Amino acid sequence: MVALLETRNLVKRFGGFVATNNVSITIERGEIRGLIGPNGAGKTTLANLITGVQMPSAGEIRLEGQSLASLEPHEIARKGLLRTFQVCRLFGNLTLLDNLLLPYLACADKAGRHGNAEGLERAQAFLALTKLTRLADAPAKSLSGGQRALLQVCCGFMIPGLKCYVLDEPFAGINPVIKDSIIDLILHENRTRGITFLIVSHEMSVMRRLCQKITVMIEGRVVAEGPLEEVAARDDVITAYLGKAMA
Ligand code: ADP
Ligand code: MG
Repeated sequence: MVALLETRNLVKRFGGFVATNNVSITIERGEIRGLIGPNGAGKTTLANLITGVQMPSAGEIRLEGQSLASLEPHEIARKGLLRTFQVCRLFGNLTLLDNLLLPYLACADKAGRHGNAEGLERAQAFLALTKLTRLADAPAKSLSGGQRALLQVCCGFMIPGLKCYVLDEPFAGINPVIKDSIIDLILHENRTRGITFLIVSHEMSVMRRLCQKITVMIEGRVVAEGPLEEVAARDDVITAYLGKAMA
């Protein structure tokens, strides 16, 4: 079977600096993949390349076997592959409900007869799931930072054809209650809609809960892949993390 998402020998150079160095990863449909590595490892760059935010210097990216070369981020998003910030720009003066409806309307194929009603139903379901229903008509700017992060993640889930969601450090600076809500949301969308995830995070306890398989990057290269316990036990991974922590 064709992998949902595949990169082959992906290279990104910034001048003479190589941020991703021949990165080849394969993510199966329905997988929740973790991506870890010390700061500067190239994780965000990889997320940017995959979602078309930056152009690779070399290499290939395929979604369901189809090359994404030279597509714009919004075209890639319409194919069902997106990362948080592309759709997560909240509009502070709009209500929570309207913020949720926007990405739905932007990406729904010919919303058609049932379009808007379905969007509304989805939005209300997400508000209920995230316990934000009572704030449905409040402006987004009235939310706490954590609630905003939660709403942003939900905005991506509003896209009808979503297949793969790339989340770059979605838990950074988020309180434990909201963190649990985001985790529950990810698991819910994975189980009910079969959505595939690539999640960048430093939080090992969260990665253990969410991910079957972890990819480890160090200095632009993939150095390990496997269950968290396995990759975390590797000497090069431990050294890379400790080296950075003590630097
Ligand atoms: P991570 O997300 O793993 O912390 P990044 O992908 O953000 O790492 O960055 C990898 C490396 O590439 C870093 O050394 C960073 O300074 C460099 N880098 C990232 N973006 C750019 C850019 N636009 N121009 C120059 N260097 C960059
Ligand atoms: Mg980063």
